[in-house]
Amino acid sequence: MSSKENENRRKFEPKIKEKRWNHQFEHDIFESWQKARLYGLKLNKGKRPFVIDTPPPYPSGTWHIGAVAQYSQIDMIARTSRMLGAQVLFPIGIDRNGLPVEIYTESLYKVKMRETPREEFIELCRKALDELESKMLETMKRIGLSGDYESKYRTDEPAYRKFTQSSFIELWKRGLIYEASRPNNFCHDCGTTIADAEVEYKELSTRLAYVNFKVKETGENLIIATTRPELICSCQLVIVNPTDSRYTQVQGKHAILPIYGREVEIKPHPSAQPDFGSGVVMVCSYGDYTDVLLFRELGLNEIIATGQDGRLTKEAGQYKELTIADARNRIIEDLKAQGLLVRMESIKHRTPVCSRSGTPIEIIPMKEYYLKQLDFLPKLKELANKIVFYPNTNRQILLDWLNSIAIDWPISRRRVYATEIPVWYCMMCGQSIVPRGGEYYQPWKDPAPVAKCSNCGSTEFEGDPRTFDTWMDSSISALFIAKYKRDKTFFKRAYPATIRPQGKDIVRTWLHYSILRCYQLTGRAPFSHAWIAGLGMDEQGQAMHKSRGNVVDPLPILEKFGADSFRFWSASEATHGSDFRCSELRIAGAHKFLTKLWNLSRFISSFPYAKNTTPMASDKWILSELAKLIERSMAGYREFDFFIPASEIRDFVWETFASHYLEMVKPRAYGQGFTKSQQRAAWYTLHTVLKTLLLLSAPLIPFMTDYVWRQLYSKHSVHVEGLPKPVWSRAYSKYTEQMLNFNKEVWKIKEERNLALRDSLEMDVPKGLKLFETDLIRMHSLTPKA
Ligand SMILES: [Zn+2]
Ligand SMILES: [Zn+2]
Repeated sequence: MSSKENENRRKFEPKIKEKRWNHQFEHDIFESWQKARLYGLKLNKGKRPFVIDTPPPYPSGTWHIGAVAQYSQIDMIARTSRMLGAQVLFPIGIDRNGLPVEIYTESLYKVKMRETPREEFIELCRKALDELESKMLETMKRIGLSGDYESKYRTDEPAYRKFTQSSFIELWKRGLIYEASRPNNFCHDCGTTIADAEVEYKELSTRLAYVNFKVKETGENLIIATTRPELICSCQLVIVNPTDSRYTQVQGKHAILPIYGREVEIKPHPSAQPDFGSGVVMVCSYGDYTDVLLFRELGLNEIIATGQDGRLTKEAGQYKELTIADARNRIIEDLKAQGLLVRMESIKHRTPVCSRSGTPIEIIPMKEYYLKQLDFLPKLKELANKIVFYPNTNRQILLDWLNSIAIDWPISRRRVYATEIPVWYCMMCGQSIVPRGGEYYQPWKDPAPVAKCSNCGSTEFEGDPRTFDTWMDSSISALFIAKYKRDKTFFKRAYPATIRPQGKDIVRTWLHYSILRCYQLTGRAPFSHAWIAGLGMDEQGQAMHKSRGNVVDPLPILEKFGADSFRFWSASEATHGSDFRCSELRIAGAHKFLTKLWNLSRFISSFPYAKNTTPMASDKWILSELAKLIERSMAGYREFDFFIPASEIRDFVWETFASHYLEMVKPRAYGQGFTKSQQRAAWYTLHTVLKTLLLLSAPLIPFMTDYVWRQLYSKHSVHVEGLPKPVWSRAYSKYTEQMLNFNKEVWKIKEERNLALRDSLEMDVPKGLKLFETDLIRMHSLTPKA
């Protein structure tokens, strides 16, 4: 570069002073949004409302990096909708009821829930929750979540619990809730019934015991293989497959139970599998779900062998009071001693376990409250088909679940830190007393809402000590945020919500229960769109679990790379709905892109902002590419698939704008040998592209875009602007391929000949690119071929 050129360039000082994007600015920028009440939330008439039924996150330890990525994308939904002209209601709630926090509290304070006075334990849970919640809110703010923090709600606040209880009372009155004793999933660790939706399956190794039963009529041996020998006491039937010729003779005869000596019938039934064990099966109450079905189908009398304490009942005779594991060991010893144990086999068994604690489920008949759902399945399928799903394929997760539901939803739980079931019982006649609703009731400590039993006149009552399944609370979030029964006008505008964003891991719980409950209460689906995100995995694609030690804490990563890098990584990692891998290396990659964008912005900030001028061919070309970029990005934004704008923007910036156009236009922007008007055209175009890029990436990287925007273009935030429109002609994009190829060819030749990029080269601009000749000659220092 000549000294004259150098001098010329020195005239242009970047308006953006900082050489690097300092992500510590993000803290101040967030403050400024809060101060300006940028996200103040009222739904006024005139503007299209866009209501997000934000998932209230559940604090029970370190916030999962995958979840934090999901929330930053939910924020992108909010920002996109605002920039598309909608009035966005983006509530912030915290889900604070139920089991996980009780378990967390027990381990944090080294206490046992069942050994701690209820009031005291509740206080400890609240304390634990407050600490976790404040960290969670801090993280939300750190990632730039543009929600309504001022009207934050909590599912354990009296107003919310009152709301849940009132909805229960309403459905109770309408006959949609009933109490029944049924075989139920029971987790001994959690000490409570759990719904099918919260049962998971694990391949666990277990022992299969081959035990000798006797056929009463013939005295012959009948070998039965079982994983649950401790349940022999509750056996009411032995079955063989009707097609199994080995056992044709024993059908209709009786089997004598070892140890107990009781006799049961031997019947043919298709659910006995000839290739499992010996092919003969004992039917107990209850070893598994098949047992439940057979007891129901054949009208067998259940024998309750397992208690709620996880120990065997008196039905087990000599094994009563033993834990299931101890009883199993003891009975195997005894069978062996009596010569009744033929052999033992180690097998892998697909075992139902509690999704919270991982404990194998026991099936115990218990009295619980049920909310009717079977009657609603046809309607729920109809609603599921009407809701718009992003991505559309994830609708199937819900439909599959609806097709598999076989029982109503058990909603009562034997837990403490959750919304109380608002029912009292008459001590004399047992009549249930349900209050009127509209207040927050704590039957375990409050007096009954009546003085006298209407049935028997007794004045003694007992409150139900149980609580609700936590999904009873969170499933009506769409109604709570829309001020159902509190503000009619607001409700009309805010319900149904526009969109329900959530992870695909809670489709069969939160999504399903929300549609069920809100439909029962309002006759309508709670939202018109459902955005179902994939899950965050570790670098190897494995689910993250505390026990595996592969959980990544997002906070140090946010400190290291900043929120925008984190957000841009989250958007560019996977298409919407697919699982994604959480890797620091990939986040560092997103950080590099931001550095590139910063450097570009800083470079462009050296030039004055020129109003519309007469652009030259290369200017028209990049604006044409910019128009295409907007179109493609908007297709992604409209589907809330942020992978599309993120990858389109990154490709445009790296592959087209920075490497080609910028190099072409530099000499002209510095004014070396060009007319004033040509120079101004370069300035105009550079700024137009930058402005557009800032607007287009604002939902993805709200901090840096706002910072640059305010430094260069406005005293107002970029977030009060609209997304850009593709207003330029796309005609010049027909030159793109040839232009990129020509530039690459020149660079290759120079490299081969060991020339510096600005060294001159004897070469003609191809005919097809004549329009761009002036810029191309200067860009490559071309001299005409002799
Ligand atoms: Zn459990
Ligand atoms: Zn009574």
